Amino acid sequence: MAMPCPIPGCSSRTRPGQLLCGPHWSMVPTELKGRVWSTWRGFTKAKDHQTIMVARQPYLDARAAAISHVANAQAPLL
Ligand SMILES: [Zn+2]
Repeated sequence: MAMPCPIPGCSSRTRPGQLLCGPHWSMVPTELKGRVWSTWRGFTKAKDHQTIMVARQPYLDARAAAISHVANAQAPLL
């Protein structure tokens, strides 16, 4: 499923299984990409409601950090 890229002003779609479109994902620092992937894996391994709720927050934090990094990095170009 291709979701719209969440970066403000970007009209691209993400590739399946990716958080951002290709060009924007490539702007995410390696360390932050690793955090998104590892927290996502923790989230998908969660089996029951309570584990899901606990595992969800680190993923949402990593996701928000990646999005705001890219949004801030491109701000001067707007
Ligand atoms: Zn984008």
